[in-house]
Amino acid sequence: MDLSAYRVCRLCPRECGVDRTAGEKGVCGVSAEARVARAALHAWEEPCISGEGGSGTVFFSGCGLRCVFCQNRPIALGEAGQDISTGRLADIFDELEEKGAENLNLVTGAQFVPSILEALSIARGRGNRLPVVYNTGGYERKETLSMLKGAVDVYLVDYKYASPRLAEDCAAAPDYPAVALDAIGEMLSQRGKARFDGEMLKSGVLVRFLLLPSALLDAKLGLKRVFSLCQNRVLYSLMQQYTPMPNVKPPLDRRVSEAEYRSLFDYADALGIENGYTQARESAKESFIPPFDLSGVL
Ligand code: SF4
Repeated sequence: MDLSAYRVCRLCPRECGVDRTAGEKGVCGVSAEARVARAALHAWEEPCISGEGGSGTVFFSGCGLRCVFCQNRPIALGEAGQDISTGRLADIFDELEEKGAENLNLVTGAQFVPSILEALSIARGRGNRLPVVYNTGGYERKETLSMLKGAVDVYLVDYKYASPRLAEDCAAAPDYPAVALDAIGEMLSQRGKARFDGEMLKSGVLVRFLLLPSALLDAKLGLKRVFSLCQNRVLYSLMQQYTPMPNVKPPLDRRVSEAEYRSLFDYADALGIENGYTQARESAKESFIPPFDLSGVL
C-alpha cells in the first residue's frame, strides 16, 4: 500500500501534516493503522440505504471534525476500536456481503482513505460487488474525494453548519460551511443525479441535515445553499434524531421541538425539494446509537 498520504497527513481539511506511520496523531487522533469499532448490518439509515437486508456498516474510529455533541464520541476520539490490517478490512467487507448486506457503508473514513481503497481493491479482486456508500460528516478535502472517484457509488454526506460561527462553536472549524459545500459539489460532479435500482439508491448523493436545538435559521440557510448548488439532482434527508449527550451545554442540552422540525420541513417544501426523507421523532433515543463493541471486527 502507498503510505505516502499518511506520512505528511493532509487527508482532511485539518491538514495536520503529521507522520501517522510513525505513530504521530493529528486532530483525528488515530495513527496510520485502520481502526474500526464495529462492522455489522444496520437498519437505521434512510430506506434507500438500509433496504431489506440492512446496510453493511463499518464504523471507523477517529474523526477530523469532532463536534461537541457527537453521539459517537468514544469512536470519534479514537478511544473505542481495534487497529486492523487492510487484509482484515477486506475480509470484513466480504463477511458483510456474506451476511446479506445491501451495500458497504463506510462511516467517517476520511482519515483512512488509502487503507479503504486498498481493502476495496482486494475485496473487488475476490468478487465482492457490493455498492460502496461513503458516509461522511462533510468535512472533506476535494483532493481526498478525488482519490475515491470510481470507488464510491453513493455519498451520504452531512451539511452540519451553514454559519462559520456555529461551526466554530461546535467543532472549531469555521471553514466548515465553505469546505463542506465544495465537497458536496465534488461528490455531485462524480456521481451525477441520483439513480435508483428499485427502492435502493445505486448512485448519487444524499445530503443530511441534522437539526440542532435553537439552530433552525442555520439549518434553513444550509438547505437553501445546498439546494442552490444541487437542486433536485441530490436527495435530502431532514433529521430530528439529535440527542443531547451528558457533556453538552445549553442550547445543545435539549432535543429539537416538533415546531422547529415542522418549520424546517415546510421550508424545504417551499424551496421546491422533491426528493427527500423525513425522520420520526422516536429516532431521538440514545438506544438508537449502536454499541461500539467490536462486533464483526475481530
Ligand atoms: S486525517 Fe487526521 S491527521 Fe490527517 S489531516 Fe485529518 S485530522 Fe489531521
